Amino acid sequence: ATQARSTLKVALLPADGIGREVIPAARAALEALGSDLPKLEFVDLLAGFELFTRTGTALPEETINALREQDCALFGAVSSPSKRVAGYSSPIVALRKELDLYANIRPVLSVSKDPTQKPYVDLVVVRENTECLYVKQEVSEMGEHGRVAKATRLITERASTRIGKMACEIALQRPRKHVTIIHKSNVLSVTDGLFRETVRRVPSLPEVNGKYDSIQIGEQIVDSAVYRLFREPQIFDVMVAPNLYGDILSDAAAALVGSLGLVPSVNAGDTFVMGEPVHGSAPDIAGKSIANPLASIRSAALMLRHLGYGKQAGRIESAVDEVIRDGTVLTPDLGGNSKTEEVTAEVLKRI
Ligand code: ATP
Ligand code: MG
Repeated sequence: ATQARSTLKVALLPADGIGREVIPAARAALEALGSDLPKLEFVDLLAGFELFTRTGTALPEETINALREQDCALFGAVSSPSKRVAGYSSPIVALRKELDLYANIRPVLSVSKDPTQKPYVDLVVVRENTECLYVKQEVSEMGEHGRVAKATRLITERASTRIGKMACEIALQRPRKHVTIIHKSNVLSVTDGLFRETVRRVPSLPEVNGKYDSIQIGEQIVDSAVYRLFREPQIFDVMVAPNLYGDILSDAAAALVGSLGLVPSVNAGDTFVMGEPVHGSAPDIAGKSIANPLASIRSAALMLRHLGYGKQAGRIESAVDEVIRDGTVLTPDLGGNSKTEEVTAEVLKRI
């Protein structure tokens, strides 16, 4: 997170469906910041399921190589085929691996009509993105009483430490400075026990030099966390979770604020960050210019914040909040009748 750049190199990967309609909106929001950012250099890169059906590859070598030359990226969405397709695997999963994007960060924010009122939901889910059950080591064998299937769940001190540090970094930038560790160590005392203990210890690690002393760390068993998330979401600030709980929690939290078209995310590592709206390629509305661009625009802001441009991110975020609050120029998913381009123009005007 340094600001000493003369240029900011941004890769654009719209990929499939409405990704192609919302990524241009995110790009325009970055450009609207003008001289408040270093000179922007954009490069368009190919990826996605549609590319796979045409060329047999969903993530070309050239795309990966070009990405390594950039500071950051904006990813649109990738279609998931309804049944298994031979030779196809998700480019987003491969990208996370190639670029070591070990954290998935999703802020969930409700914007109230009254700007003096605090949002009802204002939390961030920080999801560990490389291990847990997602190591996909599953076996199925014939047992005495029929088939038996087993999966390996991997939790390491290294991955838990770095996700814990990421959660603390994010908490540090927020007024409440509170981190809740999500776990189930009453049942999974070895794996979730390690996650919980490791994250808890982060503020006292010698190498962090007391940087996180102002942060309050709490914890919550995952099932009761979901219950409380629905009953009193305002109690949460930063939630940090192993991969699977984080996956479920972040979708559940998104449901609290209405449309999928509003929720941004970034995939972050120590040297690269990629913004990505939480929604998918939405084939049902693709090509109609009615996709909500706000999740993508917010993803661009989040990417900037992660690169150390907090003030600039704030300018985009405030503009988005104003457009939502104003309520007259919105896409159909939010009850409006405006087009993608009209909503984008409204945000740009306010930036
Ligand atoms: P995919 O396989 O790519 O995930 P999907 O059919 O699951 O596609 P999603 O993109 O996950 O579709 O969207 C789920 C629903 O939410 C769809 O009905 C879609 O139209 C709607 N939706 C998603 N994103 C947006 C958006 N940006 N604006 C408006 N509606 C959206
Ligand atoms: Mg989907």
